[in-house]
Amino acid sequence: MNLSHLAICVLAALLFCGAAESEALALTPETRTLKIVAVGDIMIGTAFPSESLLPPDDGRNSFARVASHLRGDIVFGNLEGALLDHGQSGKCGASSSGRCFAFRMPERYGQIIRDAGFNLLSIANNHANDFGPAGRAATTATLDRVGIQYAGQVEKPAALFMVNGVRYGFAAFAPNRDMMNINKIPEAQALVRRLAQQADVVIVSFHGGAEGSSHTHVPRRSELFLGENRGNVYEFAHRMIDAGADLVLGHGPHVTRAVELYQDRLIAYSLGNFNTYGMFNLSGALGLAPILSIEVDRTGRFLEAQVISTRQTKEAGLMLDPQQQVFREMARLTQSDFPETPLRFANGRIQRLEPLAGQERSQIREAQEQQPVQPQHAPIQRQTTFPRLPQR
Ligand SMILES: [Zn+2]
Repeated sequence: MNLSHLAICVLAALLFCGAAESEALALTPETRTLKIVAVGDIMIGTAFPSESLLPPDDGRNSFARVASHLRGDIVFGNLEGALLDHGQSGKCGASSSGRCFAFRMPERYGQIIRDAGFNLLSIANNHANDFGPAGRAATTATLDRVGIQYAGQVEKPAALFMVNGVRYGFAAFAPNRDMMNINKIPEAQALVRRLAQQADVVIVSFHGGAEGSSHTHVPRRSELFLGENRGNVYEFAHRMIDAGADLVLGHGPHVTRAVELYQDRLIAYSLGNFNTYGMFNLSGALGLAPILSIEVDRTGRFLEAQVISTRQTKEAGLMLDPQQQVFREMARLTQSDFPETPLRFANGRIQRLEPLAGQERSQIREAQEQQPVQPQHAPIQRQTTFPRLPQR
């Protein structure tokens, strides 16, 4: 991009930004806190290797029993596969049958995910590349079309956008090819620092850590799994917050892990299998996952979270879990892995042991009670194209 082109872009962004912001600020007083809803892996049906693997309702009711909880300024998940209507996966060799884990959701499922409430997705994970460059391109084109923000692949390291008058920066990482690399921490920090300069709230997502029921703990070292270095998620999360991240959302192990408060910022180490149709193992801890409804102040500092427990079965799909099993599991794992962290679990909520200075709960509550009702889908007012990073 030459200088004159850059100047035009900056001018256009300022004009657009100014108009959108004044409109949004009129609706949202400075005192309002922010609600960021986060879930783990989403793969609501693959047409590969066979369309017979799609759900009988073609995905339409995938989120029906939890939809009322997928409402917030930000509703985030990890898109565990490609959105693409045609194509073969190099993963599966010549065979088009048998147990091949390559996930190709029909492009129409993008609208189902948007209609469920999602406005932000990670596309950095070990299935985002199942259909190569064509799959990645169709996925991002589909997300652009339905109006979902995303990041995490080398073509799109980060996103900057505005919701309800607040500027968000987002970056996502994974250990896999063509993804922003969770194992290159200095590069990841450089990206997050740049986002922090331009955004009010920076969200970082990672798909990392070993998989399965025997990997529910955060080991505080690099995790090797199936011959891959799946990252040192403890080190990664802390360094991202040091660089300016306000919220770190992990997934990848297919089970839920602990949470931690670090520098007033929340880290969720794994949000588990949220909505994973078909070939996923859903036994035991693999079938339980939270909807984490996180309240932060307007600079991203953690105030409180609600844990809405959900579970999945092969037969019935995704549903609420009145027994709150995953809430108890998160509490147990947090007590075990981070006994020093200043959080407490009670009544389905994660609370700070000490309130933030200057943010007494009663004042926040009062401010919130005066708020207009949130729109069902928080509109995204602006998308800024983030400069492409040099590739390696
Ligand atoms: Zn994965």
